[in-house]
Parts: sequence; structure tokens; C-alpha cells
Amino acid sequence: SVFDLPAFDDHEAVHIFNDEKTGMRAIIAIHSTHLGPAAGGCRYFQYADSEAALVDALRLSRGMSYKNALAGLPAGGGKAVLIKRNAFPKSEPILEALGSAINGLGGRYVTAEDVGMTDEDMTVISRRTRHVSGLPVAGDADAKKVGGNPGPWTAEGVFLGMRAAVRHRLGREGFKGIRVAVQGLGSVGRALAQKLAADGARLTVADIDEARAARLAGELRAQVVPPEEILAVEADVLAPCAMGAVLNEATIPDLNVQIIAGAANNQLQRPEDGERLKARDILYAPDYVVNAGGIINVMAEYLGDGDTDAVMARIVKIEDRVGEILARADSEGEATNLMADRMAREAIGRS
Ligand code: NAD
Repeated sequence: SVFDLPAFDDHEAVHIFNDEKTGMRAIIAIHSTHLGPAAGGCRYFQYADSEAALVDALRLSRGMSYKNALAGLPAGGGKAVLIKRNAFPKSEPILEALGSAINGLGGRYVTAEDVGMTDEDMTVISRRTRHVSGLPVAGDADAKKVGGNPGPWTAEGVFLGMRAAVRHRLGREGFKGIRVAVQGLGSVGRALAQKLAADGARLTVADIDEARAARLAGELRAQVVPPEEILAVEADVLAPCAMGAVLNEATIPDLNVQIIAGAANNQLQRPEDGERLKARDILYAPDYVVNAGGIINVMAEYLGDGDTDAVMARIVKIEDRVGEILARADSEGEATNLMADRMAREAIGRS
């Protein structure tokens, strides 16, 4: 039963949707609405089976609760997965049906982009519900209007969170001469690499899209390595910016860095991988703390409570927050991921 799944744990609700007419199948997991509407993006993905989709939605929605709480947002945590089905490729009717499903939740869940979804998809969803964000910014009448692809905002936060980790571990201000390995050069990884290069970092990059990696390497004078080598590259910092679960029993022994700080969600395959990193004396900047810039932007758009300057002022706080978590973890001898979880539960009122 759903209630027996370890991932269900302390969730408030799970909604399962099936629209026979369009073939839309989706799961919306609501971990918590304690601090506000459950906010978190929608992932479009082909899962091995429906249990895998459910577990993914559950894990991601708890992560959103923790992320939103530590980002100081008036939002709980939730996540949608739109199940990729070969017989029913993503289409406007499917997205509209998803919009109706979200609307039926009456604002308890707010969606935005995640893996496999675009701002155009959000526009289609918005035909059926207003509980959607990450919509394209129309025209350039007001350059400070928030909206659109959250990736560059996420990159801003990752840059600042990484800077806090570099200060904490290496006692250095900024990235001049710091060697950073970036895995994944998509919307976040690319913007992050550009910021790091501009600040004097020496970059090694990899992407399964080799042309993409080569283009960026040319632009930033970075070294490119094949995707299967990036996790073991010798550097000061590793920035996972592709998929989750890359830090695990198999990969951690081969890491060749002192710090990990990147954008990918759920970088640790299991919570105990945080202990494994600690045992190897590798400093882990918790993923959902450093990658909160995107949701900060998304919520400002949804709530209409700030322009791009206000968003940046909220993102800037990520640097001190990461510094505080790392310092508290040190003084209490706890793994940094567990310390962040504890602080998030305190913020949600579930400690
Ligand atoms: P994206 O899809 O734009 O980019 C991902 C990139 O990783 C692609 O270029 C892809 O080719 C590459 N990639 C995939 N597997 C790889 C592998 N094994 N080795 C090397 N490269 C690989 O995604 P994104 O929006 O940049 O997000 C990156 C990560 O950050 C995701 O895990 C996402 O969940 C997380 N995240 C993103 C945001 C955001 O605002 N976009 C916010 C929070 C967290």
C-alpha cells in the first residue's frame, strides 16, 4: 500500500490522475502545506513502472518542502510527475488535462518546469489553471519583471552556495585559480560555468551532448572530459548539474575533490551517502539549499511579490545559509545533509 512505502512517510497527500480521453496520467505528491501552498515543478519522464513514478514524486516533493522552508519561502512542498507514455506523446490536450487536474486541487499545489518541461508547456497548462508559474515573460516592456526559465536564477544561487563552501573549506574568497568540474551543461550548468569562468575558476566540463560540451569549452577555455570521467576528475570542487543519485556507494570512493556543490536534485542516492562523503572528508553543500534560486524566482512570479531585484536579494541569502549549515554541521559533528534536513524540519515545525 502507498502508506507502507518508506518514501510516503510524513506526506499529507498523493493524488493520482488518469484522463482517458487524452492519455494523461500524472501523480501529484503533496508533502506539506504547513508554510503555504505545496510548490514544486512537474517532471515529464518515462518510468519503469507506476511505483517508480510514485516514489520519485514522493522523494521530490519532500525535497521541495525542505528546499522552500530553508529558502524562507511562504510555500510548502509538492511535486508532479507527468508520466511519459509512448502511445500518448506529450501534447497540448495532455498538458491541458494536467492543468485541469492541478486546478482541481484548488491552489494546494503550484506547478512550474522541471526535467522534460518547458515554459511553453507551462503556458498551455495555464489555459486551465492559474496555479502555474515559470511562464515566459511577455515582451521586454518591464525588464525587471520576473518569470520564464528559472535555470539562470538557480545558477546564481549555486554560484553563491559554492562560494560559501570554498570559503569554509579552503579559506579562499572567490574562485580565482579554483578548479571546478561541472557535470551537465544544460540550463543551469552552462550559466554556472560562465559565472565561474568570469570569476577566474579553471573549469573541466562534461555533457552527454558532446557538441554542447565542446562549444562551451571553446567559449570558456575549459577542458572537456568524457561524461563517464567527470565524477573522478581531480579538482577542488565538483558541481553535479545533470541528474540525481550521482553520489553513491560506487562513485564516492573515486571522487577526487574536496567540495561538492551543484544544482542537481537528490544528488545523494541515499541519506547515508552524506556520511560516506564526511568519512572521506569531502564537504557536501546540500543540494536543495544551493539550488533554491529557481524556486525563489518561480514563487515571486506566482505570488507577484517582487521584481528581479527582490528575487536577487532573496537568492543572495543562500550564501550565508550554506555557511551557517556547514558551520553547524562542523560544530555538532553531523553530516551536512542531515544538518540541513534537521534545520528544514525545524523551519516547517516538524522537528
Ligand atoms: P537541463 O536538462 O537543461 O540540463 C541537463 C544537462 O545535463 C543536459 O545538457 C544533459 O545533456 C546533461 N546530462 C545528462 N546526463 C548527463 C551525464 N550523465 N553526464 C553529463 N551530462 C549529462 O537541466 P537543468 O535545468 O540545467 O537542471 C540540471 C539539474 O539541476 C537537474 O537535476 C535539475 O533537477 C536540477 N535543478 C534545476 C533547476 C532549474 O532551475 N532548472 C532548479 C533546481 C534544480
